[in-house]
Amino acid sequence: MTTPTFTEPLPSALLLLGRGADLASERGVECAGDLPAPSDPDLVERARAARAALGDRAFVLGHHYQRDEVIQFADVTGDSFKLAREAAARPEAEFVVFCGVHFMAESADILTSDAQQVVLPDLAAGCSMADMAAIDQVEDAWDVLVEAGVAPRTVPVTYMNSTAAIKAFTGRHGGTVCTSSNAHVALRWAFDQVGGLEGDGKVLFMPDQHLGRNTAVLQLGLTLDDCVVFDPRKPGGGLTAQQLRDARMILWRGHCSVHGRFSARNVADVRAADPGVTVLVHPECRHEVVTAADMVGSTEYIIKALDAAEPGSSWAIGTELNLVRRLAAAHPELTVHYLDSTVCFCSTMNRIDLPHLVWALESLVAGRPVNRIVVDPDDAHWARVALDQMLALPGY
Ligand code: SF4
Repeated sequence: MTTPTFTEPLPSALLLLGRGADLASERGVECAGDLPAPSDPDLVERARAARAALGDRAFVLGHHYQRDEVIQFADVTGDSFKLAREAAARPEAEFVVFCGVHFMAESADILTSDAQQVVLPDLAAGCSMADMAAIDQVEDAWDVLVEAGVAPRTVPVTYMNSTAAIKAFTGRHGGTVCTSSNAHVALRWAFDQVGGLEGDGKVLFMPDQHLGRNTAVLQLGLTLDDCVVFDPRKPGGGLTAQQLRDARMILWRGHCSVHGRFSARNVADVRAADPGVTVLVHPECRHEVVTAADMVGSTEYIIKALDAAEPGSSWAIGTELNLVRRLAAAHPELTVHYLDSTVCFCSTMNRIDLPHLVWALESLVAGRPVNRIVVDPDDAHWARVALDQMLALPGY
């Protein structure tokens, strides 16, 4: 039987991230308040005391990719959509403290009542993928589709990992939001709105090109030639009108800076080192990685797969490192490799650290909420339309 173990990335990769070397390099910037020093030995006690003082008035959400030092204070953990729904299901919680990134806090604000305030402990905790699709760029892209004559036969589908403004754009144009778990259902629905998979209708998929491509090709049976990439930095998206007319999937040029770094070489290397390994990756990984892997699925899927794994079996996981470390710790009966020896944590997610959490909680106790996330009411309405459309998809 294989000796249970967890293969950590190289220490040099961690040093590059500032872990243990330069903590300030991962810290959020331009915080308005007085953050406690990271070296304060009482940080855990202070967080406990503030959390206890708030009681049911606060609800703390922790995304799967958060640091251990933060996740220990989460009332519930999960992916972004699950967390937003959990917050909405607790109307008695006056404050929702979202330990995640900006777009997730926006979704929580959209789905919770007006009486609930959503707080993001560090406003610098953004998402590089969400930031790759700015609303002005998307409006311009739609104009390009109009000029090419394809807009009336195009349905926008936006991944949960997008700003509220992009979700609102999607709602205004009759589209839907999707998650990594239901992207295939959302795409089928979207194609059905414009003549079905056999017709010539199109989907504009934002902002993650990899999730869109992987879903369309591996789950809907479209081909790589059916997919084009719209680059917002190039005139006309870098595409001709004919390319847009011929395409079925118009993929926004965006990606996750964590999952986009795994390579087919990583898969080959781990197979060479451990021939019995099962390679399980997230669908935000590049197409060649997903096709080289044995299994592909969302964060929740990865968690369930390891929960159900045969004791003694060996796994290589291609997703964010905080989660993989916790899964390895929770499953000492398994051998768990991190798929890439140099891939990093989600650096923006990691901006939420204990000093920021303590600052946010203590400010609530003092009656001075900080870093409140409020979505523009019109955007919130239309984003809600797109989110409701997702909830109306089969399977919800
Ligand atoms: S892991 Fe990727 S998609 Fe998720 S928050 Fe970080 S950058 Fe964004």
